[in-house]
This record gives sequence, structure tokens and C-alpha cells, in this order.
Amino acid sequence: MRSINQVGDRIELYPEDISFTLAFSALDFINADTLRYAYRLSDFESGWRYTDSKSKLATYTNLDPGRYRFTVKAINKENKWSSNEAQIEIVIIPPWWDMPIWRALILLTIVALISTMLWLRFRTLQLRSQELSVLVDKRTEDLNRAVEKLTLLSTEDALTGLKNRRYFSQRATEAWNQFFRYKHTFSLILIDIDLFKTINDTHGHGVGDTVLIDVAKILTENVRVNDIVARWGGEEFLILLPALNVQEAYWVADKLRKKVAEHPIKVQGKQVPVSITCGVAEIKHYESVEACIQAVDKKLYEGKALGRNTVVN
Ligand code: GH3
Ligand code: MG
Ligand code: MG
Repeated sequence: MRSINQVGDRIELYPEDISFTLAFSALDFINADTLRYAYRLSDFESGWRYTDSKSKLATYTNLDPGRYRFTVKAINKENKWSSNEAQIEIVIIPPWWDMPIWRALILLTIVALISTMLWLRFRTLQLRSQELSVLVDKRTEDLNRAVEKLTLLSTEDALTGLKNRRYFSQRATEAWNQFFRYKHTFSLILIDIDLFKTINDTHGHGVGDTVLIDVAKILTENVRVNDIVARWGGEEFLILLPALNVQEAYWVADKLRKKVAEHPIKVQGKQVPVSITCGVAEIKHYESVEACIQAVDKKLYEGKALGRNTVVN
């Protein structure tokens, strides 16, 4: 509770002043006890309130913010109203948050906050989506690389890096189809390392593997890029030579035989001689790729019987 001794015609009250009392009195000291009063707070009540000389107080509670005019007048015992009404303006100031400027500011702040939150959420989702798309790209790339590697591995012999039997068979079937339709000929060379078991037994499996790798290298380095060189079995290699007839294939096989024979493997400072025996055939003399392979196999064993390090066609 606070006391306002205000001089003037206006009182300002704040929302926390939920109740206020106005004291009034007419300046008639002689007949003060016989005076009665009428008062009214316009914009709040329409009728007058009457009181006698003993209670000269007007109390109001919980007024809404706004402007009010308090009017009070006195009447004497002859029922004559005083000619002067006393008036005072009461202004109930609204709480700060209820003022238009603050309302607008609060609204603006809420709108700004919601917009910021929405924008942040959107930005987070956008960044996450970008991250995910980068991740997906990377994973796809990794996967493609893995598939590429697997495909390559499944077509290659692990030790020598030459094509494997499966891959060779697929390509040989394609070559056969080309021959069957368009008469595009091709030849096969089957190669077997001579007395390889002896190399293994004498120098060990490691040296044997080195011989396999070295021979494979000599073979690939001395044929054309289009020729298909495969590891057919343990120490056997099969080469498909597109477009070559049996005579041309024979020359290639003999060149390979010479290259291998000229390239002894060095083991602990010693030279270990290596040689190969080859069987050669051209597809046009056979009914299938399998028949042609059987033929080169037979020729190879003829070569072995002839004393090895030789080519038979
Ligand atoms: P031939 O001149 O009659 O062909 O005699 P060879 O000793 O070469 O023939 P054989 O078939 O008796 O021996 C082949 C050997 O090759 C037997 C096998 O242990 C060996 N071999 C097969 N694959 C591998 C391999 O990957 N590494 C090694 N080091 N040896 C292998
Ligand atoms: Mg063999
Ligand atoms: Mg052999």
C-alpha cells in the first residue's frame, strides 16, 4: 500500500495498485457534519454513489487499464448541491507487456524465434542431407571399386596374374562363335613346363612358384595384347591367338620356347634351366573348342615323348 499526496488533476496508478481509495472533503468547516456527498467514477460506473459526512472515502479495486474521471460533489442540509464539482483524472497504466509497442515487440520476437528455429532445423536437415549424399557417393565408389576388384580377381590367377581357366573358357566360346559365323579363325597353344616336379623337389616349392611367375611373364611379354594367356593348370598354360593359322601359331610357340630356354632362373647364385613343351592347333580342323584343346594336349604329350623343349603342331 502506498500513499499518493498528489496535487493536480491527474493520478497515475500502476497495475500493482489493485486497490485504491480516494479521500475527499468539502471546504465548509462550520457545517462540515451536515454535508453529504455524491461521487462517481465515470467510464466505470454510470450512477452516483451517495455518502454522509462520516465516510468521505471512495474505494475501487481491480480497474482495467485506462482513463477514468472521478467526480465528487457535496450537498448541505438544505439539500442544496455545491456549485463546484471536484474532478480528478485517474489513469491506470497498463503493465509493460500489455502496451501496444511491447505487444508488437513480443510478437515480433516470437515470430523471429520461430523463424530462426525453423531455419536452423531446415539448415541442419540440409547439411545432413548433403553429408548423406557425400557418404552415399563415397560408399558407391568404394562398392564399385570392390566389385571391380572382385571381378578382376575372379578372372585372374592369384599367383601369376594371368587369366584363369574360367575367363579363358568364356573368351574361347566367344572366339568359337565368331569362327562359326564369320570363319574368323584362331589357334591354341598349350604349354607345359618340363620336369617341373624336379625343380620343385630340388629347389623347393618357393622356387617352383618363382619359375611359374617368370614363365608367365615371358609368355605375356612375347604375345600380342589381344592374345589371351591363361594358367590352365599347375604348370600348364593355354594361349588363344586370334586370327593366327597353325603355322603362325607354331612360330609364336617356338619363339616362346626359345625365350623360356634362354631365361634360366637364378637360385642362390646358381642357374636353374627351365624349358617348355608346346602343342599347337588351329580351330578350323576341329568341331569344338574342347576338341581343339584335347588335340593340343595330345600334341604336347607327343612333344614330351620327343624329349621335351619342343613344339608340336
Ligand atoms: P613333365 O616334363 O612331364 O611335364 O614333368 P613335370 O614334372 O613337369 O610333370 P608333373 O605333372 O609330374 O609335375 C607337375 C608338378 O607341378 C607337380 C606339382 O606339384 C607342381 N605344381 C603344380 N602347381 C604348382 C604351383 O602352384 N606351385 C608349385 N611350386 N608347383 C606346382
Ligand atoms: Mg603338367
Ligand atoms: Mg610339366
